[in-house]
Amino acid sequence: MTWSIKILRAGTMRLDGGGMFGVVPKTMWERLSPPDDHNRILLQTNCLLLEQSGTKVLVEAGCGDKWSEKERGIYAIENRTVVDALQELNVDPSEIDHVVISHLHFDHAGGLTRLNDGNPVCCFPNATLHIQHQEWKDANENRAVMTRTYLPTHLEPVASQVQTHTGCSSVLEGLAVEPAPGHTWGQQSVHIDTADGPVVFPADVVPTINHAPPAFVMAYDIEPYTAMQTKVNVLSRAAEEEWTLALGHEPGPVLVRAESDPERPERRRLTPCP
Ligand SMILES: [Zn+2]
Repeated sequence: MTWSIKILRAGTMRLDGGGMFGVVPKTMWERLSPPDDHNRILLQTNCLLLEQSGTKVLVEAGCGDKWSEKERGIYAIENRTVVDALQELNVDPSEIDHVVISHLHFDHAGGLTRLNDGNPVCCFPNATLHIQHQEWKDANENRAVMTRTYLPTHLEPVASQVQTHTGCSSVLEGLAVEPAPGHTWGQQSVHIDTADGPVVFPADVVPTINHAPPAFVMAYDIEPYTAMQTKVNVLSRAAEEEWTLALGHEPGPVLVRAESDPERPERRRLTPCP
């Protein structure tokens, strides 16, 4: 059994370019990803809609819309959510059976909830939410280098719907999660069987097409060295096992392939799928 995949663009945002590229000098990253006059680079919050025999699965939930004007301004959060993207495909959020979340930072899990008369409620009332046990625990204990990314408003209202996973785990037939530590301790990648071969959502292991080199890891990572090792491992498996990668924050083409770089065989480079 295989899944069909649709890409959902849940809204753009901008984060500090230095934050997104960590120790990489600005003179290198600004050519790849030109910053605006606040030094922020353009990012998308890409989500996936998976369907198989009437079952609907959402991968990631984006930022959502519970933001003040001030917060929206800081991150240039677009006034658009994953629910808008689903409705454009005539899918009602109540039809979603499962949601898989890579990790619980605001730009991945904020869209799990919306405000109803000022109170946060789950956007997907009939869904089971799949998260690593480690991530759920760390998020609820607010163990992060960013102080305002694990927000109670997107955790508490969904607690009763969460099913936690420990390590590599099957979610449904043809759909599995694997630990992808570094950005957070409990981040997971999502592995999907499709008729065209495996598609993997590596989340913030490889946020954009410009994050392929091993050292291009984020200043937001809880363990940068671990993040680097996870990425080297993911990209070498992607090249060897011919995965298609679906990039979570890429504003351009979302689906890419990893290839060996003839000039630097230990590295992989990413190219958009035709
Ligand atoms: Zn992110």
